[in-house]
Amino acid sequence: MFSFWERESFFHSPDVIVLGSGIVGLNAAIHLKQISPSLRVSVAERGFLPYGASTRNAGFACFGSASELIADLDMQSEDTVVQLIEKRWNGLQRLRRLIGDDNLRYEPLGGYEIFTPSDQSTFERCLDKLTYLNNIAGSVTGKQNVFSIKDDDISRLGFRGVSHMLLNNQEGQLDTGAMMQALLARAQQAGVEVYTGVTVTEVLHEEDGIVLLTQNGFRLPCRQLLVATNGFAKSLYPELAVEPARAQVLITHPIPGLKLRGSFHYDEGYYYFRNVGDRILFGGGRNLDFDGEQTTSMQLTETIQHRLEQLLQELICPYTETTIDMRWSGIMGMGTTKTAILERINPRTVCAVRMGGMGVAIGGLIGEEAAELILKGL
Ligand SMILES: Cc1cc2nc3c(=O)[nH]c(=O)nc-3n(C[C@H](O)[C@H](O)[C@H](O)COP(=O)(O)OP(=O)(O)OC[C@H]3O[C@@H](n4cnc5c(N)ncnc54)[C@H](O)[C@@H]3O)c2cc1C
Repeated sequence: MFSFWERESFFHSPDVIVLGSGIVGLNAAIHLKQISPSLRVSVAERGFLPYGASTRNAGFACFGSASELIADLDMQSEDTVVQLIEKRWNGLQRLRRLIGDDNLRYEPLGGYEIFTPSDQSTFERCLDKLTYLNNIAGSVTGKQNVFSIKDDDISRLGFRGVSHMLLNNQEGQLDTGAMMQALLARAQQAGVEVYTGVTVTEVLHEEDGIVLLTQNGFRLPCRQLLVATNGFAKSLYPELAVEPARAQVLITHPIPGLKLRGSFHYDEGYYYFRNVGDRILFGGGRNLDFDGEQTTSMQLTETIQHRLEQLLQELICPYTETTIDMRWSGIMGMGTTKTAILERINPRTVCAVRMGGMGVAIGGLIGEEAAELILKGL
C-alpha cells in the first residue's frame, strides 16, 4: 500500500492512466497533455524500460514493399489498401515532424525488396503491377515513380544469389533507441508522469472510476484507462482479437568496408535487414514456426537464429566474415487483418492495440486517435 506522501505526490488520482509506455502509449499521453494541459496523465509500464516491441524493433520507416502491397490487394479492396498506406505514410511524416529527423537519426536511404531465382514469379507479378503501384503510392505521397527496378545495384551491395531488386525511394530508417528516448523526454516535458516497474494484473470497475491492481499490491485509481499493451493485451482482456507474435533479431559487430546501405525485405517480408552504421541488423524467420512464435516469452530459438546466420552468410554478406554481437527478441501484436484495434471497450476504457509489424509507422497516429477517444469519455 502507498504511504501518505506517496499517495499525495505520486499517482495522485490521475484523470487518465495509460497502460504501456511503447510508441502508442507515449504518443497518446503526449497528445492528451497537448490538447488538455491541466489533465493529470500517468503512464504505467511494467518494465524498467518499455518491454514489448518499441525499443526492440528494426527501425524501418517503411510503408509497404511491392510484393506485400500486391498480396494485400489480393485480399482487400483497393480503397482499404490505399487507406493502410496513407495511415503509414502520414504516421511517418507525423513522427518526423514531432521528433525531428536529427533526433530520430533518420536516414532516407530507401527501402528495397530482394528476390532470389525461386521468387521469380513474385518478382514478375510486381513488375506487371509496377505502374499501378506507382499510381497508388503517388496518390498518397505526391511523389512520382516511388517504386523502381534496381538490379544494377545488386553486385554493388555485395549480395549472392539475388536476381532482382526493387526500390521504394520514399522509405528510410531510424534509430529506435533515439526515437524512444526522445518520446519519453517529450512526455516528461509535457508533464506526463511515467512510472516503470508497474505490472498491472487486474482492472476493477468501481462506481466512480477504475482501479488498477498491481503485482506488488498497489491500487491505482483513475477516471479513464487507455490500454496500449499491444501483444500483451490478452492477459487483461482475453476477448480482444490480438495475438502475440515474437520477432527475433541479431546484429553483427561492425564489418569493415560494409557496402550495404538501406533497409531490405526478403521472402514476402518474413526477413528484414538493414545497416546500422557498419553493422547489419537482421531479423525475421517467424514463418519457420508460426505456432512457436505466438508467445509473449522473450526467448530466442536455435532454429530461427541458425537460419538468420545462414542467410546472413550465404545471401547477404557472402564475401566478408561476420560475427554476431547481440541477439534479442520483441513481441508484436498481430491479428487476421492489418488494421489496429482502436475502440472504446467500456465507458471508462479505450483500447489501442494490434500494431502488426508497422508500429513505427502507425503507432504515433493510433496513439493520437486513442487520446481523442479518451477525451470524449472524460
Ligand atoms: C524485432 C521487431 C522488429 C520490428 N521492426 C519494425 C520496423 O522496422 N518498423 C515498424 O514500423 N515496426 C516494427 N516492429 C513493430 C513495432 O515495433 C511495434 O508495432 C510497435 O513498437 C508497437 O508499439 P506499442 O506501443 O503498441 O507496443 P509495445 O512497444 O509492445 O508497448 C507495450 C508496452 O506495454 C507494457 N505492458 C504490457 N503488459 C503490461 C502490464 N500488464 N502492465 C504494465 N505494462 C504492461 C510492455 O512492457 C510494453 O512496454 C518490429 C517489432 C519487433 C518485435
